[in-house]
Amino acid sequence: MELPLNFHLSGRWNVISGKDCVLEQGKVIKYYSDRVLVVTGKSSGKKSGALADFEKLFKENGIIYEIFDEVKENPSFEDCAAAAKKFAAFNADGVLGIGGGSAMDSAKTIAVVLSNPDIKAPDLYARNIPCTPLPVFACGTTVGTGSEVTSYSVLTTTNGSSHSKDGYSNPYIVPTVCFCDPRYIATLPKNVILSTAIDALAHAIEAYFLKKSGIISRMFSEKTLEMMWQPFCKAINEELTYSDRERMLYGSVLGGFAIEFTGTCFPHGLGYQITLNFDIPHGFACGYFLGDFLRMQQTEYPEEVDKLLKIMNVESIDEFERVLYSVLPRFKNDANTLEILTQGGKTCRHLYNSFVSASAEITRDLYAKVLARL
Ligand code: NAP
Ligand code: FE
Repeated sequence: MELPLNFHLSGRWNVISGKDCVLEQGKVIKYYSDRVLVVTGKSSGKKSGALADFEKLFKENGIIYEIFDEVKENPSFEDCAAAAKKFAAFNADGVLGIGGGSAMDSAKTIAVVLSNPDIKAPDLYARNIPCTPLPVFACGTTVGTGSEVTSYSVLTTTNGSSHSKDGYSNPYIVPTVCFCDPRYIATLPKNVILSTAIDALAHAIEAYFLKKSGIISRMFSEKTLEMMWQPFCKAINEELTYSDRERMLYGSVLGGFAIEFTGTCFPHGLGYQITLNFDIPHGFACGYFLGDFLRMQQTEYPEEVDKLLKIMNVESIDEFERVLYSVLPRFKNDANTLEILTQGGKTCRHLYNSFVSASAEITRDLYAKVLARL
């Protein structure tokens, strides 16, 4: 049994965790909101049981709610703006995201648009959000993004025929309260458990070597790896217990704290292109690069890399990478693949976050290495 994840710092974060935590402690929402717009995907809220718990909670506490359950994976600004428009007349004073990163990130952006109906996508990235977004609440049902505690919302934008994924950050979209009940993870399909767990591992590992890392962020990274790696390996071949799911859910939230301090690096930036062009889920897409990311850091920071491998109890980067590639999906790899992935060179800026700077040539080389392994 893990210790509770409860953590409440100066009103910035309020993490409520444990079995039945929504029904037992959810009325804290009433302190902020009486009219809540619930934002979720087609199935996650219903299958996990989280939606039913919130409906019960809201009815018992006189909170009026409406449900938008059409969030798609890799949500776009346009979809969020359309949802905000559709529910404008409801006059919500809070937005609750139930689901994985797609639902929670959509809830954040819908909260922004409800307070700023004329806002356009570029304003988000230019940090031009004139009115404070509505309070956001979050209930995660995957074990990856940590969006429960971050100030990020990652959206897909379309420009003509090209798509890109990019996150914006705003301090007011950090969920005011988030709920982490491991019961909601029980219905997660195996491939979503594996992919989202790799996302959490990526957060911990990338955050560790970013310029903004420090004692606190590294503490979160180390604990994330300690909590995630073992149940991740177990999930490859075995059924998970409640306690495994508890470790993974809490570990993923701790990974969210790590990136909240530091941001992410090239496994994320380069992974976005793989998601968009080959329909590979976000966590898997980051996973292709994690071995090479550690190798790049090892030249300058061998002790730190060793420490992370020890925490995971893996012998070498090769061993770590072998385990990851045993679950990473293969995608179409022909003469055009490298060109498709490197078009525009946009993702290179993510490389510069790292201590080790890199160029467009290194970007190409990193993609080529991934393709050679498929
Ligand atoms: P997701 O796209 O939210 O969900 C993946 C799939 O899992 C969906 O089909 C969903 O179904 C299903 N699902 C979720 N929970 C379930 C449950 N308990 N039982 C059964 N099915 C369930 O996946 P994600 O990996 O959590 O989120 C990925 C997104 O988050 C990406 O856009 C990524 O860029 C972003 N992200 C954000 C941050 C951040 O800090 N904000 C950090 C990293 C990544 P339904 O769609 O039918 O509901
Ligand atoms: Fe991520």
